[in-house]
Amino acid sequence: MNIAFIGLGNMGGPMAANLVKAGYAVTGFDLSKASLDALEKAGGKVASTALAAVEGVDVVISMLPNGKIVRDLYTGKNSLFAALLPQTLVIDSSTIDLQTARDMAAAAEEQGVQFIDAPVSGGTAGAAAGTLAFMAGGEDEAFKRAKPVLEKMGANIFHVGAAGNGQLVKMCNNMLLAIHMAGTSEALALGAANGLDPKVLSEVMLQSSGCNWSLQKYNPAPGVMENVPAANSYQGGFMVNLMLKDLGLAMDIASGSSQPTPMGELAQTLFQKHGDQGMGDRDFSSIYQMYRQGDLFA
Ligand code: NAD
Repeated sequence: MNIAFIGLGNMGGPMAANLVKAGYAVTGFDLSKASLDALEKAGGKVASTALAAVEGVDVVISMLPNGKIVRDLYTGKNSLFAALLPQTLVIDSSTIDLQTARDMAAAAEEQGVQFIDAPVSGGTAGAAAGTLAFMAGGEDEAFKRAKPVLEKMGANIFHVGAAGNGQLVKMCNNMLLAIHMAGTSEALALGAANGLDPKVLSEVMLQSSGCNWSLQKYNPAPGVMENVPAANSYQGGFMVNLMLKDLGLAMDIASGSSQPTPMGELAQTLFQKHGDQGMGDRDFSSIYQMYRQGDLFA
């Protein structure tokens, strides 16, 4: 099977490499020469344009920064949809706005192309290890075709309903992640400010009703866990700027559906303030530091 992979960045690069490893013929395209070189080194082919990359392929996968770029790629001046063979399967794994995902599904259908939105969770470590979670929206038949390909890049593959639902699930999940990371940091900082050791407090809460993923896998207080960003000056991991992107998309969905999300809004305000303090490129669990510095609402 021939696959074109567009967008070979921090996520797309290792995902494409895993497809090569699984035996697929992968042709990649990216605007960055370094990303193209990395794919070649991993055993893939590279193309000089997106249109050239998709020539004659069975499947197209994209992993791009935002909805505008995805829209331009598939329906803009050099529309990929118009160039694809009928029945080509397109998998967009970028995290993008709901409207663009739905519009791309409709535009694909008009051209006789199959489309699913399949954003991921698991970060760059999951992309490298091939253990991403995919949440896919689209028709059953398209999902069935996509699943064996997604399984080469991920460990948990979910079909969550119609086009756009992949993005919806991703935003609900990441909004909750932001809320429980901020809440966990708040509780740990309250304890620490009053003389409790965050490690002891964490041990108790892990066995109590405050237990949650941030405490179990990603403790934000330095000195509690090894191999988490808090143990490494909050380098690596999931950047505050990327969390802000996802919270923005979640808040757009909330306003578009008139569904109140006061906790999500507050989390967005807190992470925005944190990012504005020069922490945008640190891991999002560094929000704990903002609580500890006590300048939260200054
Ligand atoms: P990145 O910036 O590292 O990679 C994006 C790549 O797209 C870059 O290499 C860039 O050169 C390329 N690109 C941009 N415009 C292009 C175009 N028109 N044609 C071809 N290539 C183009 O970003 P990333 O971290 O790999 O994230 C990709 C997507 O995955 C985003 O939507 C992000 O929100 C999502 N995501 C990222 C993470 C993470 O931890 N990094 C986790 C889950 C989801």
